[in-house]
Amino acid sequence: MPSLLAATLDLVLPRRCLGCASPAEALCRRCLATVCRPRSRRVGALSVWGAAEYAGAVQEVLVAYKERDRRDVGRVLGVLLAAALERTSAAVLVPVPPSAAALRRRGADPLRAIARRAARITGRQVRPVLRHVRPVLDSVGLTAAERATNLAGAMWARAPDVPGQACVIVDDIVTTGATLSEARRALRAAGWRPAEAAAIALVT
Ligand SMILES: [Zn+2]
Repeated sequence: MPSLLAATLDLVLPRRCLGCASPAEALCRRCLATVCRPRSRRVGALSVWGAAEYAGAVQEVLVAYKERDRRDVGRVLGVLLAAALERTSAAVLVPVPPSAAALRRRGADPLRAIARRAARITGRQVRPVLRHVRPVLDSVGLTAAERATNLAGAMWARAPDVPGQACVIVDDIVTTGATLSEARRALRAAGWRPAEAAAIALVT
């Protein structure tokens, strides 16, 4: 009885805004408007847009989504990603792939689901053409140089329908940019033209 289960879970876990604790799903409208401040940085040749700084309420929501598997925050994350995507122009979105370990642990690829939500809002199209070709370590705790070594040559991309097709690389949090750099390398090797990236949050 899914409705009874949902009602029971709601009693146990009341849905509160992770910013101000008012009744809301993940973030209330006011907190969402406050944190959504698109910003950009360069990662090599990539122009990267993020909807927010990785701090405060956005950090709370991303930790809930990544570490506590809170699927109910997906709508808010889709709205934030869409705000970053509005600053980019390519029609095709390519999400970075989950590591094999993350996929095993979670049984799904939540970033792809969030990219689909953002694509619906912005009228884009999601093409999950990237995958890992060898195991990579969890990047938590690695230095920038170790992250780059960990990811070098780790991805492979399916070729685009049209050689030289532009795309936006999509990730959740951009830290050192090692993931985006490897994604760009693999996409270029397959014949894509990735000049832009979009993320929910940038670590600054
Ligand atoms: Zn709030």
